[in-house]
Amino acid sequence: MKTSIATVSIGGDLREKLAAIAAAGFDGVEIFETDFLAFDGSPRDVRRMIADHGLTTTLFQPFRDFEGLPEPQRARAFERAERKFDLMGELGAELMLVCSSVLPAALGGIDRLAADFHALGERAAARGLRVGFEALAWGRHINDHRDAWEVVRRADHAHVGLILDSFHTLSRGIEVESIRAIPGDRIFIVQLADAPLLDMDVLQWSRHFRCMPGQGDLPIADFMRAVMATGYSGPLSLEIFNDQFRGGSPGSIAVDGHRSLVNLMDGLRETAPELAASLPDLPPRIGVQGVEFIEFAASAAERGELEAQFAALGFAPHARHRSKDVVVWRQPGASSGPNLVINSEEEGLAHSAYLTHGTNAYAIGLRVEDAAATVRRARALGAEVFEQRRGPGELAIPAIRGMGGGVLYFIDGTLADVWEVEFASLPAPTMPAGILTGIDHIAQTMNYEEMLTWALFYTSIFRVRKLPMVDVVDPAGLVRSQVIESEEEGVRLTLNGSDNHRTLAGHFITESFGSSVQHIAFTCTDIFAASEAMTACGFVRLGIPANYYDDLEARFGLEPALLERLSAANILYDSDGAGGEFFQIYSAAMPDGRFFEVVERRGGYAGYGAANAVFRIAAQKRQVRPAAMPRL
Ligand code: MG
Ligand code: MG
Repeated sequence: MKTSIATVSIGGDLREKLAAIAAAGFDGVEIFETDFLAFDGSPRDVRRMIADHGLTTTLFQPFRDFEGLPEPQRARAFERAERKFDLMGELGAELMLVCSSVLPAALGGIDRLAADFHALGERAAARGLRVGFEALAWGRHINDHRDAWEVVRRADHAHVGLILDSFHTLSRGIEVESIRAIPGDRIFIVQLADAPLLDMDVLQWSRHFRCMPGQGDLPIADFMRAVMATGYSGPLSLEIFNDQFRGGSPGSIAVDGHRSLVNLMDGLRETAPELAASLPDLPPRIGVQGVEFIEFAASAAERGELEAQFAALGFAPHARHRSKDVVVWRQPGASSGPNLVINSEEEGLAHSAYLTHGTNAYAIGLRVEDAAATVRRARALGAEVFEQRRGPGELAIPAIRGMGGGVLYFIDGTLADVWEVEFASLPAPTMPAGILTGIDHIAQTMNYEEMLTWALFYTSIFRVRKLPMVDVVDPAGLVRSQVIESEEEGVRLTLNGSDNHRTLAGHFITESFGSSVQHIAFTCTDIFAASEAMTACGFVRLGIPANYYDDLEARFGLEPALLERLSAANILYDSDGAGGEFFQIYSAAMPDGRFFEVVERRGGYAGYGAANAVFRIAAQKRQVRPAAMPRL
């Protein structure tokens, strides 16, 4: 199935838009008239640019307020259409999108509208063009695809067909099953857009908040299943009105769009096997079993600070790379992870990540079933494959570029001996046995505008689910938090998007020059025992004010003895009200806003202590470079 996108969906001028659309792998493009009008070249220049990029023009849009007019406006509407047909001829566009009229002067009546479309079809046919009718959700008389279809059916003209747009149908909650009865060859094009569920005026919702399929909350897959049942085989075309996207990088928004379509088609393989034929080599979504390692880049001169932080969490050097300045740290006595790696090489990506961001966690190693298949899927979805020169005896670990210029490595069964092959054990430390048992979650921070991009990146490549987005209150602004969890429960990521640089998350983005991993949360089996052991290791924890514990008592009615223990150890607490409890200890934040967290989950608690975030952030902001952080 061919993919297409409307020029209005991304930013830049028409030249930049077309280049980005072609580079992302789309087959076709809808020319949005305003983009053409704002362009400083002729229609023939545009036609040539489109052809040079190997794209086809899927349609020209929009032609507004055409149908149902009384004379003399009716005659003028036909004249207007003829002018646009002239332009389409020069542009090489064969299909015109006519959206339903919003004019107060427009008259209703299915037969009147059908007659108008029949007449328009005659004029289009004379030029070898076609017209498609789309019901706007806010159209005056036609605002439902079922009525638009009835107009098209009665127009009874081979050059007049229906245009379906998922947003217009789904935003009004129109039953998608009604699509199944429409003959597929009468649907001239299908436009797709998702949107977050928002309780607002549908026109404003459509013009500003549309997003790529899979980024919002609309049941796009149900809509598509109904479309596929009609036998429709034309292009799937994205038409996304979103202020943020238009302000974003044309290249990356176009990649998101193409990724969303490939992912959508992939998800429909079972109901529409014919879709598979048009998909690239695309292994099914990849299950992730766990985090095998987190790798930090730190120079030899500065790594001492990081080593001290690891040691304070009970980690000790476990093994040294046989040929590189790389050391893996583990909990003493642990037969496996958590594995923290410090890479102090003076070349390669670790070094450039250090030069760009300072000490930072630039790579994450994920355990998957088939590392090569993971990279094949990621590549087909537009991710950038990462390779760098290997030294003698080093394993080829498949990898892709991830957030913040970092890397995701994939470790499967065939690579499980990487620690033995590439690393030589160091003498066992004379420290108490391990305190921390695993990695609970990794928090990645980004500008708010990038959140949809990275959520789609993870949800399209991996078998993960998104939890509803929550707002975290930072005293200086809002931070949106989106949890991504693997369906196998092995990996949890929290994506945090800051809308300004005065929040702790925004401070981190600024200070780390756009690094991504802001905090890592480790698991333990007994928070109080872990707390004591960490104190013995020199752990500097975040102090939590007494007011927090007074409030805890009020909220949960905890036993005084428990409250006393929590308060004495600066442990944050949350309960889900159904027997699930959550305990959190935070480290002091580093000057750039990075920090560590240790948690214990009891009784199936599934959250992240969101209610505690405001206290944690306020406490961290008090101690992070007070001079650099604005007073609040
Ligand atoms: Mg549309
Ligand atoms: Mg956390």
